[in-house]
Amino acid sequence: MDCIFCKIAQGELPSTKVYEDEELLAFKDINPVAPVHILVIPKKHIVSLATIEAQDADMLGRMMLTIRDIATEQGLDENGYRVLSNHGPDSGQIVDHLHYHILGGRKLGPIG
Ligand code: AMP
Ligand code: ZN
Repeated sequence: MDCIFCKIAQGELPSTKVYEDEELLAFKDINPVAPVHILVIPKKHIVSLATIEAQDADMLGRMMLTIRDIATEQGLDENGYRVLSNHGPDSGQIVDHLHYHILGGRKLGPIG
């Protein structure tokens, strides 16, 4: 499958890893829009939130806990941070592999 994030997850493309386990990977966004800009992905190819399935629920729950832990480790807990995931053209999704952005380290503007 010609998916850039699958290739990163499989080690076929480089990334600056922040966290990795059997089912999840977190790495720095190549074009950061905030001092901390990390992407968290499942290693399994899922296109977006629109295509998650009930069988993914446990993994997705662990993903939320991992996002929380990464944000804390990055020192974002006190001042706060934003977590977002895009689906489809109106959102501006450009990589069709589910990912959550963790953004922080500066005052963020309004959403949208
Ligand atoms: P989006 O699909 O709009 O939610 O955003 C995809 C994000 O992936 C963008 O913020 C890109 O900067 C980022 N990105 C694309 N390619 C890479 C890469 N090879 N390594 C790290 N981040 C990437
Ligand atoms: Zn993929």
